[in-house]
Amino acid sequence: MTETVVEPKPLRKAGPQCRWEGVELHPYKELDSAPFKAISRQTLFSDPRLLGELRYFEIEPGGYSTLERHEHMHAVLILRGQGTCLVGTTVHGLRPHDLVTIAPMTWHQFRASAGEPLGFLCLVNSERDRPQLPSPADLAAFRADPAIAAFLDGTAAA
Ligand code: MN
Repeated sequence: MTETVVEPKPLRKAGPQCRWEGVELHPYKELDSAPFKAISRQTLFSDPRLLGELRYFEIEPGGYSTLERHEHMHAVLILRGQGTCLVGTTVHGLRPHDLVTIAPMTWHQFRASAGEPLGFLCLVNSERDRPQLPSPADLAAFRADPAIAAFLDGTAAA
């Protein structure tokens, strides 16, 4: 018996935008009730032999990811653009090549600046628990901090 060895070719970036050859672009569907805005995902790496996935997200100017927390982790590497993120109770400015670690059960949200898209790689566990969303009481607690309130309103400086 011979084992089939799969030797995938390097996944190449296609064209000037952050798109990769043969990788499907998943724009998140926007609903009035949806707690995210103007964000797309490409899954660059997913293989059962490694218990993680590598995705590329791009948030359009002024857009944002869902404010959430969960047991699984993220390691986020900014590739393009500027923005801000909330991690736990701290707002951070973001620029290319920053690496942001999201520990288990830590509230997090990413926001693109007004001027350009924010693109980042996100390493995540392949098996993931369902994200939790903040309750009205959680949001009220966040808003008690002026820096977090400005972040949530999209008016925090990058
Ligand atoms: Mn998350």
